[in-house]
Amino acid sequence: EAAARAVATEANSGAPTIFDKIISKKIPSTIVYEDEKVLAFRDINPQAPVHVLVIPKLRDGLTELGKAEPRHEDILGHLLHASKIVAEKEGIVDGFRVVINSGATACQSVYHLHLHVLGGRQMKWPPG
Ligand code: ADP
Repeated sequence: EAAARAVATEANSGAPTIFDKIISKKIPSTIVYEDEKVLAFRDINPQAPVHVLVIPKLRDGLTELGKAEPRHEDILGHLLHASKIVAEKEGIVDGFRVVINSGATACQSVYHLHLHVLGGRQMKWPPG
């Protein structure tokens, strides 16, 4: 149990994540949109015909949405607007979903805030 807790704590400690390597292009990704503040790239394990992750290039403490503070308001708005640009570029702007999993209970696995942009099929509700 102590070992499991150590793993969970490490995962949420602000340690670097795989997304840092995607941002620095040390590991490859398929980028669909990029500006000075955000990067959008295809999810490696897509849950819909379109599944793109939108992330801030600077994490600045945003390991998860549940850690957001007032100083993050601008980047949070920027991420949402970038998600709409991604939906437009992907041809799904008439119907798409944006998901943020925050924390282990929500099945977050990478502790660098990311928005999932999903579409290209009929979505169901509620999500699991
Ligand atoms: P979950 O893993 O439960 O979906 P998250 O909301 O933290 O939790 O999502 C992390 C997402 O990152 C997953 O959808 C996963 O497929 C994706 N992912 C992990 N590694 C990579 C990678 N190298 N390139 C693209 N997507 C990745």
